[in-house]
Amino acid sequence: MADMKTDQVYQYLERISNLLRTDTRRTMVEKGLQPVQLEALHYLSHCNRYSNTPAAVADFLGLTKGTVSQTLGLLENVGMIEKLPDYKDRRMVHLQLTSRGNKVIAETIPPKSLQMAMEQMTESDQDSVLLALDKMLKAMQGANQLRTFGVCKTCRHHQIETDDQHRCALTGEYLKAEDIDKICREHESPA
Ligand code: SF4
Repeated sequence: MADMKTDQVYQYLERISNLLRTDTRRTMVEKGLQPVQLEALHYLSHCNRYSNTPAAVADFLGLTKGTVSQTLGLLENVGMIEKLPDYKDRRMVHLQLTSRGNKVIAETIPPKSLQMAMEQMTESDQDSVLLALDKMLKAMQGANQLRTFGVCKTCRHHQIETDDQHRCALTGEYLKAEDIDKICREHESPA
């Protein structure tokens, strides 16, 4: 049986999720999107080049490849994403947001209610919330042994060779500056 604090944390998270969902849903209706389509679009807006495949989207959303394929097909049909072949393996497909997709994300996420709440908090309260949420996310990912989809610069494979030259030790490839803050399917925590 869950202890009282766990129960309280769950209730806070549930209420915050409901508020965010309600706020986001309003914008989604205007854009003609379903929740899963927005989640896939948002994931693709901040994942790196190793993680923008249909299989990675399915992993991130915890859905089957068939369900994700329908979602991605629809996003492509309405001109929010486009498919690009892999430069090494032509059978592999990468997904990229179009300017229309980027515009939808910029107008929808983060929801206005969250932006307003953050503006009302002190910087130190904002930092405390970030730290606590980061710890909770890592603990939950560890407990479930799921892929962490963490930010590249926090990965144990991330090597800094010089200030402006970073390399992924897993793939051996150099990382672009914009990749460093993106999330990755292959991310592994240093611990
Ligand atoms: S360093 Fe880690 S997170 Fe970054 S690209 Fe390599 S595997 Fe992914």
